[in-house]
Amino acid sequence: MTAKILDGNALAQKLRTDFKTRAEALAARGTRPGLAVILVGEDAASQVYVRNKVNACAQAGFHSEKITYTPDVDPRVVLEKIAELNADPKIHGILVQLPLPKHFDSDAVLRAIAPEKDVDGFHAENVGALMQGQPRFIPCTPYGIMKFFAEAGIDLKGKEAVVLGRSNIVGKPMAMLLMQASATVTVCHSQTRDLAFHTRRADVLVAALGKARFVTAEMVKPGAVVIDVGINRLPDGKLCGDVDFAAVSEVAAWITPVPGGVGPMTITMLLANTLEAAERGTR
Ligand code: NDP
Repeated sequence: MTAKILDGNALAQKLRTDFKTRAEALAARGTRPGLAVILVGEDAASQVYVRNKVNACAQAGFHSEKITYTPDVDPRVVLEKIAELNADPKIHGILVQLPLPKHFDSDAVLRAIAPEKDVDGFHAENVGALMQGQPRFIPCTPYGIMKFFAEAGIDLKGKEAVVLGRSNIVGKPMAMLLMQASATVTVCHSQTRDLAFHTRRADVLVAALGKARFVTAEMVKPGAVVIDVGINRLPDGKLCGDVDFAAVSEVAAWITPVPGGVGPMTITMLLANTLEAAERGTR
């Protein structure tokens, strides 16, 4: 079997065209969707992510502000800035790029963002709303993955779904969304015994561990849908996912590549959340 590709660039392009039209309609009524991105420190990967987010905003016709701080900044300065952005009518979404330096209380920073501007969906109030099945903002990476299923017509009802990873930003919200779509969900993590036993049962397998090419063909059920969230840098500088793409493509029915799969969709859903926040503000 040669798996069909779930093309993140193509789906992202399609969605962003729609967002641009919606943003123009809003702008005609006097509101331009606005995103503020806060970056603390000099982490190379974070700098790339922030640049990509700001560029995506510009292409979609959104207003964006990038606020950068040196790694030794006093956390109170960042909290004051968040309070200012919470009150700024030009800003509909606020995002703090993670991870923050060690002297920060990341939870306190996320809690400082007004829940109605928390476009990453990491504020405890928004996590609770998602858990109750009434999301205000769905975290961008799992939101983008759900769009792949919808676009490809993959019905999750009654399917065995296995999520590798239990982080707050990917694994947990992913599991919640799959469960709400009526899949039977198993979440695996670093303490899971016999991981391959679980992965081989998966009709839908989401790999979000951050371990290069961890998922091999032997771990995948023939005909499975395989979603690769991982972004890992190999010694030669190239990017690869958590899935052995070449070998698993021979077994799976559907697969996301890295790059060009989940990554572009994550940024796209950040635009979606910012646009939705702006639209809500004008209703
Ligand atoms: P975290 O490091 O926060 O979480 C990793 C999870 O994987 C943890 O739950 C950990 O278990 C689990 N894990 C680690 N090693 C193993 C193992 N050997 N067996 C089973 N489980 C394991 O990572 P994130 O969730 O933030 O990100 C995961 C990956 O996705 C990274 O590569 C990241 O770069 C990428 N990513 C990509 C995005 C995109 O847009 N494409 C967006 C966000 C992340 P435990 O909890 O027990 O420690």
